[in-house]
Amino acid sequence: MPQGSEQKEMFKNDLEFARSLDETDPLKIYRKRFLIPQHHQRDAIYFTGNSLGLQPTTTQSYLQTELNDWAKYGVEGHFLATHPWLSYHELLTTKMAKIVGALPEETVMMNQLTVNLHLLMVSFYRPTSSRYKILCEAKAFPSDQYALQSQVKFHGYEPKDALIEVGPREGEYHIRQEDVLAAIEKHKDSLCLIMIGGVNYFTGQVFDMKTITEAGHKAGALVGFDLAHAAGNIKLELHVWNVDFAAWCSYKYLNSGPGSVAGAFVHQQHLLNTQLPLFAGWWGHDKKTRFLMDSTFVPMQTAERWQMSNAPVLSMAACRASLDIFEEVGMDALIAKSKLLTSYLEFVVGEINNEKNNCLQIITPKENRGCQISIVAHGYGKALYNKLIENGVVPDWREPNVIRCATVPLYNSFEDIYLFGQILTSLL
Ligand SMILES: *Cc1c(COP(=O)(O)O)cnc(C)c1O
Repeated sequence: MPQGSEQKEMFKNDLEFARSLDETDPLKIYRKRFLIPQHHQRDAIYFTGNSLGLQPTTTQSYLQTELNDWAKYGVEGHFLATHPWLSYHELLTTKMAKIVGALPEETVMMNQLTVNLHLLMVSFYRPTSSRYKILCEAKAFPSDQYALQSQVKFHGYEPKDALIEVGPREGEYHIRQEDVLAAIEKHKDSLCLIMIGGVNYFTGQVFDMKTITEAGHKAGALVGFDLAHAAGNIKLELHVWNVDFAAWCSYKYLNSGPGSVAGAFVHQQHLLNTQLPLFAGWWGHDKKTRFLMDSTFVPMQTAERWQMSNAPVLSMAACRASLDIFEEVGMDALIAKSKLLTSYLEFVVGEINNEKNNCLQIITPKENRGCQISIVAHGYGKALYNKLIENGVVPDWREPNVIRCATVPLYNSFEDIYLFGQILTSLL
C-alpha cells in the first residue's frame, strides 16, 4: 500500500483502483461484520459513524443472551446469568481502557456522556474566589457548553467572566495550538479547569492533549477532555498524558447503539484521594461491603467510585459486542487504515476541485485529524446535502455549507470514497 508523501502520486480516482485498495486492506473482513443501511438494494455510503456507529452483526445475539437470562432467572440473573449482571460492567473495563490508553482501574462505563461530564466536574471543578475560570474551545458541542455554563453558575460565577473560550482566528477554521497555550498562560492565575473536546466535532481537529495537559498543570489547573469524537477514532494515552479526567459516549465510533452507556476516566493519581467531593451512589461503594447496606459510604479506590447506579446491562451488552471487535482489531491497525482512507478522500476531493473550480475546501487540519474530514462546499446549501441523501450517501450536514464525512476504518471502504466522489461531482 502507498505510504506518506507517495500517496498523492500513487492514488487514482477510478473504481478499479479503489477496489484494489479494498482488496489489499488487512481489515476488509470487518465490513461484513456490520449491518450497512441499504439504499435501493445496495449499501448506502455511510459516512456518519461519527454520529451513530453502525450495528455489529453480533449485537443482537449479545442482547438476546441477556433477554434469555432475564426470562429464565428473573432477579437471580444478577448471580446466575451467563455473565452475571452484578458485575456486568466489569466485562467492559479492560477493553475500554485499552482503547483510551488508560489503566483498568481508571476506567468505568456508566450513564451518558453529559451526565459523566457533570459528575466529574463535581469532583474536579472546585473553584475558589481567585481560581474559578474554565478554559474551553469556542463553539464547543452545545451540550458541553450548557454543562460548563451551568457548572459555573452552580458555583455562583458568571459564564461571561468565568468561561474562557479559545476560537479560531479571523478567517480560519481550526484553533491554533499556540493560541490555546497563550490563553492558558494569560489566565494562569485564575484558571481552575481546562475542558476541551479532544477532537472538535465540527472541524475534526485533533488537539494536542499531552501538551495542553502539561501546560494546564503548570498553570495550576486540572485538565479534562470530552472524548466523544476521539474514543475509538484516534490514539489516546490518557494515563501517560496525565489527563485528570475524561468522558466519552459509546454510540459514535464505538458502535454501541443509540444512547448507549458512556465512559469515564479518572487518573490514578486521584483515586487514592478519598477526600475528593463527589455525588455518591451505592455502586461507588466498596464492593466487599456494598451489600451490607450500611449507611456510611466507603468509596471504591477505582474510577468505579463515580458510578452511582447499577449497570444498564442491555446497553452494556451492545457495548460489549462492539468492544470485542475493537479488542480483536486493535487501535493501531484501525488508525493505519483510517489514515489511508482520509488520504484517499482528500485526494478524491482534490480531483473534484480540479474539475469544479476549487469549490470544495477541507477545513480539517491535515496533520491533526482522525477519520473525519469536514468539507465546506462554497456556493452550495442544504439542497446539496438533500441530493447526496437521495443518491444513497449519508454524510452529516452543518449549516450553512459544511459536509462532515467520517470514513470509519471498521466498515468504510475505498470504494465508498470513490463512489462518493462520483456522486458529489455529478451534483456540483
Ligand atoms: C455527541 C456529543 C455529545 C452528546 O452528549 P450525550 O450526553 O451523549 O447526549 C456531547 N458532547 C460532544 C462533544 C459530542 O460530540
